[in-house]
Amino acid sequence: MKKVFLPFAIIFLLLFLSLFLFSKPKEEETKEEKKEKIEKKQENTMKKYSFYKSENESRYLAYKQKNKTLSEEDIIVRVNIGLDQPYYTNTQEAPLLNTPYTLVNKYYYLREDFLPDNLEELSEEYSKGGIYLVKEARDAFVNLVIDAKKENLTIRAISAYRGYTYQENLYHNYVLQDGIELADTYSARPGFSDHQTGLAVDIDNAVVNYNNFDTTKEFTWMMEHMEDYGFILRYPKGKENITGYRYESWHYRYVGCDIAKKIKASGLTFDEYYMKYIDS
Ligand SMILES: [Zn+2]
Repeated sequence: MKKVFLPFAIIFLLLFLSLFLFSKPKEEETKEEKKEKIEKKQENTMKKYSFYKSENESRYLAYKQKNKTLSEEDIIVRVNIGLDQPYYTNTQEAPLLNTPYTLVNKYYYLREDFLPDNLEELSEEYSKGGIYLVKEARDAFVNLVIDAKKENLTIRAISAYRGYTYQENLYHNYVLQDGIELADTYSARPGFSDHQTGLAVDIDNAVVNYNNFDTTKEFTWMMEHMEDYGFILRYPKGKENITGYRYESWHYRYVGCDIAKKIKASGLTFDEYYMKYIDS
């Protein structure tokens, strides 16, 4: 045993010594090298997120520089939405048309001639009249109204699908009334309206003005049950800088039960949820 072991021990010792003797002395790292190393490491840590897009790399880094308190996840999500650029820049056509997942905001638009498939009218039992939603959303909304009624609550649709031209006139009038800057905080430019998807619905309780919907019992009920019917609050309070719109207690968007429940549990806006889990 000893005879076999000894040569190996000598070789090992020699190898160890040579490594020690011939290794270069460590050079002092320059400030520039250190900075580069840190930046590279940070950049790499962002890459681990499934929603990281390599084509947005320089935008992530620039946005991070300006928003040092934001988490890496938020940096990536917000840049993916387009929030590192002013509203209505780098706009692109909304993908996933005619699904409950269509994202329309100040960066994703619908073409002038886009008309959702299967638009159906809501009867006056459930609306103000002359209101249309995509069938899947309409059926879900009808069930919601019926179930709310069982608890003596009145919910009705006051506006749902709005075509491009309708929105064009609406926005134009708001601009004349309040100026572009203010109008942009509450009204979508034509093509950029959630209402053109046929999946969005504004509601009231037929008594209180829709602007004060959040003071009603119906609003409280909506906050507790909307996700069971596939609806979410599209423009929540405190998320104005992400949605690009002021808080709207009356505007609901159909996304399907599964995603509505996940959005409610996560506390994310649809824009953020979309970038994290729907966008591919
Ligand atoms: Zn609305």
